[in-house]
Amino acid sequence: MDVSFILDALNDKQREAVAAPLQNSLVLAGAGSGKTRVLVHRIAWLMHAYEISPYSLMAVTFTNKAAREMQARIEQLVGVPPQGMWVGTFHGIAHRLLRAHWRDAGLKESFQIMDSDDQLRLVKRIMRELSIDETRWPPKQVCWFINAQKDEGRRAAHVPDSHDPFSRGMREMYYHYEEACEKNGLLDFGELLLRAHELMLTNPALLKHYQQRFVHVLVDEFQDTNTIQYAWLRLMVGEEGSITAVGDDDQSIYGWRGAKIENIQNLSKHFKDLHTIRLEQNYRSTGHILKAANGLISNNDDRLGKELWTDSGEGEPISVYAGFNEQDEARFIIEIIKKWRDDGNALKDMAILYRSNAQSRVIEECLVREQIAYRIYGGHRFYDRLEIKNALAYARLAIDPNDDGAMERVINVPTRGIGERSIGTIREIARDQGCSMWQAADQIVTHSLMPARAANAIKGFMQLIQGMASTLQNPDLGLGDIFDQIIAEAGLIPYHEKEKGEKGEARVENLKELVNAASGFNWLETDEEFSSPMMAFLDQAVLDAGEAQADEYQDSVQLMTLHSAKGLEFPLVFMAGVEENLFPSRMSFEEPGRLEEERRLCYVGITRAMQKLYITYAESRRLHGSESFNSPSRFIREIPEECLEEVRLRSQVARPVSMQRPDYSASIQRQNQNIMQGHTVPETNVSMGDRVKHPIFGEGLVVNYEGQGPQARVQVNFDDAGTKWLVLSFAKLEVL
Ligand code: ATP
Ligand code: MG
Repeated sequence: MDVSFILDALNDKQREAVAAPLQNSLVLAGAGSGKTRVLVHRIAWLMHAYEISPYSLMAVTFTNKAAREMQARIEQLVGVPPQGMWVGTFHGIAHRLLRAHWRDAGLKESFQIMDSDDQLRLVKRIMRELSIDETRWPPKQVCWFINAQKDEGRRAAHVPDSHDPFSRGMREMYYHYEEACEKNGLLDFGELLLRAHELMLTNPALLKHYQQRFVHVLVDEFQDTNTIQYAWLRLMVGEEGSITAVGDDDQSIYGWRGAKIENIQNLSKHFKDLHTIRLEQNYRSTGHILKAANGLISNNDDRLGKELWTDSGEGEPISVYAGFNEQDEARFIIEIIKKWRDDGNALKDMAILYRSNAQSRVIEECLVREQIAYRIYGGHRFYDRLEIKNALAYARLAIDPNDDGAMERVINVPTRGIGERSIGTIREIARDQGCSMWQAADQIVTHSLMPARAANAIKGFMQLIQGMASTLQNPDLGLGDIFDQIIAEAGLIPYHEKEKGEKGEARVENLKELVNAASGFNWLETDEEFSSPMMAFLDQAVLDAGEAQADEYQDSVQLMTLHSAKGLEFPLVFMAGVEENLFPSRMSFEEPGRLEEERRLCYVGITRAMQKLYITYAESRRLHGSESFNSPSRFIREIPEECLEEVRLRSQVARPVSMQRPDYSASIQRQNQNIMQGHTVPETNVSMGDRVKHPIFGEGLVVNYEGQGPQARVQVNFDDAGTKWLVLSFAKLEVL
C-alpha cells in the first residue's frame, strides 16, 4: 500500500516525527506548530506503514472534544474509523478500565462518579456528622487538600504525619472521606486516576495484558500531566511498549492542579532512547500575533527555549480596547462580531476567551439581546444545572437506592412533606447503624419510628423510586422514554413551572433537552464495559459535562475560559478582561511561580488566534457583586508595541434625532488610517463615561446604555440622586 499520502501535507521536521521508528519520542514545540497534527498523522502511519492494529494503540488527549476530533481526523486521513483504538482523556480511559475491572479494582459494580459539586456536598455532610466547625475548616479547602493529595498519588494513609494541627486535621478528614466514598461506592475525579493506577500496580496479570495490548501510546498536551497520570503512563507503556508525547512547556497551565512541567524533562530518564524533535514553523497565526506571543513569553525564566516563525505575512496588528466598564467592553466585542458576521464569516470562527467563568454573564446577556447564537464550554454546563442534576439523581437512585448523595438531593424535591427534621432523623439512624439512608428510611417505615404523617411521606417517596426502578427494567422503553417517565413521575415539570419568571421556563426546557439527549445517546458507540445504557449515560453526563451541549452543530460564537481554549484555534479571538488583579489574577501575586503560569495562560490565549486578535479590558468592573478599578494588565505592556494598536473610540449613545449608531467598524478603519487623533464626540451624542447634568437629579456619570432610536436609555450615576435609567428622548441631559 502506498502510504506516502500520510506524509504529504507535512514539513520535514513533522515528517521526521511522524515516520520515526517505533521508539520513544518527544515532540517539543510551540503553539500552532502542528503537534496535534503530527500525532494524528503518526497514528495513521503506525497503522498503515507498520501495520499496527488500531486495537494496539492508545491516544490520550486533554478533553473529550479533542478526542472526538482526533478520531474524526484519523478517519478523514485514512478513510475508515480507527476501530478498537482507545482515544480519550486520562479520566475517561481510567474510568473505562475501572468499569471493565471493577471487581479487581475493589469497587462495587454500581459505582458512581462524583463531580466537584457532589464532592463538596459529601465533604459537608461528613463534617456535619462529625460536628466539625466549617468556619475553621472550610469544606472547599478540604476538597482542595484531598484532590491535591490524590494528584500526587497519596491516599490518606500515605499523607506524612505532621505536628501541624491543620495538616493533621486535614488528613483526618481525608480518612473519613475515603471511608464514606468506599461505603457509598463514590469516586471523585482524582480517585479515577488513583484507582486505575492501583489497579495496574496490584494486578500484575492485568498489567501485563494491557502492556502487551498497547504497543504504542500517544499523548497530546503532555506538559499538563500530573504525578499520578505520569506514573500510570509509565506503567501502561512498560518496558516493551513505546510512547510518543507532544507538548509545549510554555503552555503548561495546570500547575494549580498538580501538573508538573518536570515530567517533560523526566521523560528521557524514564523512557529509554528518547528521540526529541523540535518544530519551529507556526502554521496557525499571522506574524503580528506570533510576535506578540513570543515577546510576552520571553518574560518568563526557566524555559526550555524555542522561537516560532511563520511565513504567512504580518497580518493586522492586535487591537486593544479600553472599555469604560464591563458592559461597554461586552458591547464592543459584540459590535465587532456583528461586523464580521455581516461580512460573511461563520460565528463558530469567533471565540471570546476570559480568565474566570463569572465574566461570561455580561457578555452572554449582550449576545442574547442581539440574538446572536453562542455556546459556552465549561462553566454553566448543561449537566451541571440544578434541574438536570436532580433528574439524574432520580435515575441514580433508581439504579442504586443506597446512593446517599442522590437521596439527599431529591428526597424533598419537589417538596413532598419530608422536612429537615425527618431527613435529620434518617441521617442519624444511617450513621448509628452504619447503613445507607435508604435502609434507614426503610426501617422508619417498617417499624413506624416516626409519626404517621412523616413516615407516610417517606413511604411515598420510596414507592416512587421503586416505581422508577421497574420503569428502568422495562425492555420496551428507550433511554429517552425512561427519562421522560422519571421526570413525569417525580413531578419535576410542574414543580419548575411554578417558579416565577424565565428561570422556571428555562429549567423546563432543559429537562426536555435532557430527554432529547438521552434519546440521542448512542450506547453502541460507547463501550461494552457498561452494564446498561443508563449507567453509560449517567457516567458520560458527569465526565462529559459541557462538551456535549445540544447546539453543538449550530453556528455559534464560542465562549470559554482561557483554560478550556487549549489546543483550539479560531480566525477571530477576543481576550476579555485583560486587567491587573483579574488577569493576572490577584491570587497569582501571592504564590511563587503563579505569575509565570498566568503568563503562559496569556500565551495560550494569544496563540489561539489565526487572523485577528482583540484584547479588551474595562476601566471599572463589577464582578462578584463589587466594583473594582483595575489598571490594564502588565501582559499588554509585555507585548512588543509594534504589534499593538489602540482602539480609541468609546461607544456612543445616539440621541434619537440623529439616529446614529455606535459604529466601531468605521472608527477602526479610520484609526487604521491613523486619522483617529483629535476625533471629537458630536454634540448630539452622550457617551459612556460622559459627565451630564439633569434638570432635577443634578450632575452624574453615564455608566451604561441600552437600545437604539426612540428606545435608547442611559444609566446615569448621579452624584446625589443615586443611579437611574433614563429614556434619552425624554430626559433633558446636558453633556458637561
Ligand atoms: P497547540 O500547541 O495550540 O496545541 P499544535 O502544535 O498542536 O498547537 P496544530 O493544532 O496541530 O498545532 O496545528 C496548528 C494549525 O496549523 C492547524 O490548523 C494545522 O492544520 C495547521 N498545520 C500544521 N502543520 C501544517 C503543515 N505542515 N501544513 C499546513 N498546515 C499545517
Ligand atoms: Mg495541539
